[in-house]
Amino acid sequence: MPRYKSTILSYGGGTNSTALLIEWINRGKDLDAVIFADTGSEQPYTYQFIESYIKPYCKEKKIPFETVTYKAGPRVKAVQKGDWEEGQVVTIYDWYAYSRSVPSVWKRSCTDNFKIIPITRLVKEKYPDSIELIGIDAGETHRAKQVEDPETGEMIYLYPDKKYPLIEWGIDREGCRKIITDHGWPNPKKSGCYFCPFQSKKDWIKLYHDSPYLFNKSLELETNNKRFPEFPLFNKKPNRLDWLKREIETQTNLLDYAEACEIPEENDPMPCDCYDGY
Ligand code: SF4
Repeated sequence: MPRYKSTILSYGGGTNSTALLIEWINRGKDLDAVIFADTGSEQPYTYQFIESYIKPYCKEKKIPFETVTYKAGPRVKAVQKGDWEEGQVVTIYDWYAYSRSVPSVWKRSCTDNFKIIPITRLVKEKYPDSIELIGIDAGETHRAKQVEDPETGEMIYLYPDKKYPLIEWGIDREGCRKIITDHGWPNPKKSGCYFCPFQSKKDWIKLYHDSPYLFNKSLELETNNKRFPEFPLFNKKPNRLDWLKREIETQTNLLDYAEACEIPEENDPMPCDCYDGY
């Protein structure tokens, strides 16, 4: 059994990692850092939740809250052309707007570049030999990647330096919500980039309703993309945000329309690696 120098929690801003943080501390376990990969384009309510609850809680418990971001490297085209400086923090939105493209649901390079790589870099520099706690709950064990041990034939976790306490403790999504409620906090809303292509139709309609400015920014990103309309941001029918917008705006009652598109939450997880429960 490998020994780890420190324990870090990968915080995504959603229900699962929030419940994991609370429960880990409630069980009297040590935690050396909470790490949040900020793409710069998270939903506004996620930033508010972090500022109002997570940062003060970490401060009270004396746990460093670390925010990591994407920084443009020397091989990035915009740096080579002099449009960005080397080391400049670039939001995921600006990155795609500059390259006139949209995140792909097939490649998932956005998760790598804006979340996994910045976290890995910090861990390597500041928390080497650490074990990373991941908030995958007991109702979604398929998301914790497993492989067959060639010696024993047993299924083991693919990454030995990652730990899934919610699975070990048998805590599902409902259990996560209860932990947060019992702690006296509201449940955080779904986290992720506001223009994430993995969002459901319901999410896009909510964005249109709650943050028209961010919806329009997403629409702009989609239509300015070099391969539009072949590669849209919105991957459900009608496959284009401008058409979805027209669809919404021609409904007599937006709330009726949102209800008509309502899908039970449990059947509508965001199928990306950034998904953190909601
Ligand atoms: S939330 Fe969506 S767009 Fe943002 S990094 Fe994750 S997969 Fe990419």
